[in-house]
Amino acid sequence: MTKRYKAKIGKRKLCKAINQYFVRVTCDGCGHSDLLKLRGWDAVLCSACKAELYKDGTYVEVAEAFREFAAGTLEKWATYSIAFSAMDRSGITLDEIKIIAFREAKIGPGIIENRRANWLGMGAA
Ligand SMILES: [Zn+2]
Repeated sequence: MTKRYKAKIGKRKLCKAINQYFVRVTCDGCGHSDLLKLRGWDAVLCSACKAELYKDGTYVEVAEAFREFAAGTLEKWATYSIAFSAMDRSGITLDEIKIIAFREAKIGPGIIENRRANWLGMGAA
């Protein structure tokens, strides 16, 4: 299974020639680091171990929740609570949740929309 980590991002350095910032991104899985542009990506593959490194740890958290749900170790509303709470604090969008839910737990986008409506109906947001 693909491993996912929050990317460890070093100090930004300006490359004056192209007026872009670069950062050293370190993989939590194997410790390898790559020099990458600061902007223009949300997730990258570690060039050494091929783990997915996410700029925002929210993606990792939500993916982990749906993976546990698929494995039967996390209850349904506990899973959606993690996903929608992250969405309510603007850490992730509904479209991104749909992509993660399908990838990790084969839950279709229509179901996610219904759950979101249920969630809002509960007055949780
Ligand atoms: Zn790695």
